[in-house]
Amino acid sequence: MKEVCEKVVEELNKRGYFAVYCATKEEAFDAIMNEIKDVQRIGMGGAMTMKELGVAAKVEEEGKLLTRGADCEVFLLSANAITSDGRIVNIDGRGNRVAASIYGPNKVIYAIGRNKIVDGGIDAAIERIKEKACPPNCVRLDKKTPCAVTGKCADCNSPDRICKVTVVFDRCPTGTPTTVYVVDADLGY
Ligand code: SF4
Repeated sequence: MKEVCEKVVEELNKRGYFAVYCATKEEAFDAIMNEIKDVQRIGMGGAMTMKELGVAAKVEEEGKLLTRGADCEVFLLSANAITSDGRIVNIDGRGNRVAASIYGPNKVIYAIGRNKIVDGGIDAAIERIKEKACPPNCVRLDKKTPCAVTGKCADCNSPDRICKVTVVFDRCPTGTPTTVYVVDADLGY
């Protein structure tokens, strides 16, 4: 997957991000920890990838993890999907994660595993999220949704529905410098 990941990095850099290829999880961990070493107030959203990298535990151990919203210096997150031409797609229930990734923090840092890369544009990205991200997240969060039971999206009207807000990043948002580490490993859902 090295070539695919490197191509995504190239596309992200064209879209205004500071994107970096990481060959391993360890490389991504070191790069992120180095980037946030002088930061005191850190926010985090949708933390499975950051947990799997070891970043969440380290930041918590250092007493720097403060929030799940935008009232932080740096916000850490992943993507539910990224198209091979560099468009990040995230779907939230509450919207705190996507809000903080657009406006508020001084800086945003993504870590995105190779399993999140899709060919086929935005439709394929949304399909990936509904098939591969939402069902396991509903199970993990004990949500009473059809996909938590069947593993398939039923476009439900459940109050527990976790896919209520869909955000597509065509470019890096103005005024929010954003680093994206594309990691050549499977991370999160
Ligand atoms: S719409 Fe409902 S069933 Fe479909 S993925 Fe979202 S929460 Fe699950």
